[in-house]
Amino acid sequence: IGMKKHNFSAGPSILSEYTIKNTAAAVENFAGTGLSILEVSHRGKEFVAVNDEARALIKELLDVPAGYEVVFMGGGASMQFCMVPYNLLNKKASYLDTGTWASKAIKEAKLFGEVDVVASSKDANYTYIPKNYKVAEDSDYFHFTSNNTIYGTEMRYDPDMKVRLVADMSSDIFSRPIDISKYDVIYAGAQKNLAPAGVTLAIVRVDALEHVDRPIPTMLKYKTHVDKDSMFNTPPVLPIYSALQTLKWYKEQGGVAVMEKKDKENAAILYDEIDRNKLFKGTVAVEDRSIMNVCFIMNDEYKDLEDEFSKFASAAGMVGIKGHRSVGGFRASLYNAMPKSSVEALIACMKEFERTH
Ligand code: PMP
Repeated sequence: IGMKKHNFSAGPSILSEYTIKNTAAAVENFAGTGLSILEVSHRGKEFVAVNDEARALIKELLDVPAGYEVVFMGGGASMQFCMVPYNLLNKKASYLDTGTWASKAIKEAKLFGEVDVVASSKDANYTYIPKNYKVAEDSDYFHFTSNNTIYGTEMRYDPDMKVRLVADMSSDIFSRPIDISKYDVIYAGAQKNLAPAGVTLAIVRVDALEHVDRPIPTMLKYKTHVDKDSMFNTPPVLPIYSALQTLKWYKEQGGVAVMEKKDKENAAILYDEIDRNKLFKGTVAVEDRSIMNVCFIMNDEYKDLEDEFSKFASAAGMVGIKGHRSVGGFRASLYNAMPKSSVEALIACMKEFERTH
């Protein structure tokens, strides 16, 4: 029997046991068809039901108002970086630069029109979320990244703006209730809080989708996917099946408000330990700390212990805590499926390492 692993990977990342068990079962025998989900038609009634139920559950869990649709696509969140401006940018859009993913989104938007970068924390290696920036009222939309997976900063709110919002919520969707009505588009790659890699979800305000005049290639047009109930072409069947399992698990657990409470508790005990432990310190402004990705480094006096702690933690079963190369140190990702017991195991590891050094 292998030692229990504690999966802190940033993405693809931990999924609920419910998701993994039910996915494995469907790989053997899907919905009583006697066939694997890997080999059935996406147009068969069993999978059409999965696709529809998953989209309906997203609407239910996030309280999506009338006038919005949920679609699943391929291409990752990175494809959304160009789909958003392709479909929504007429003349000018405003973007907040809070990290690598935000700046990649900005780069794509520039291909389609004027981009106003309203603020950036790049000068401080993205260790905080800029505040007090101005968004021009004639912008087609304001784009922000709700959670900066690499740097561990997060905007856990739906900003009040005179213009409509677009958000990349890849790494914190389903970790809080969202006021969807403020947004034209919310998108998220699945591989953090939803499913294995391979599917991206978008929640789109349908009447915002036909405001640009440019021709849009069929597959890159949100309307195509909306009009065909997210079945214009062959969708990523297996990731969507897994997504449905995660969504059912969220519902059974009590929904996204319950996830938020648990996620906040997990993050709070880990940040408390980082702040208490003489060996470690957090890397970002305290008020902007992410509850999904907790970044920390060794205190200056203990810098040369980094490798040793890495080895010590991995021997104790911790997986995926190495920080992103642009930050260094450590990053513990605490997505919705993270049990408190794993966070406690990491904390115990930090305490033990402190005691022995
Ligand atoms: N946005 C954010 C916030 C991310 O964390 C990631 C991936 N880690 C991406 C976008 C890119 O996603 P993908 O690899 O699915 O294109």
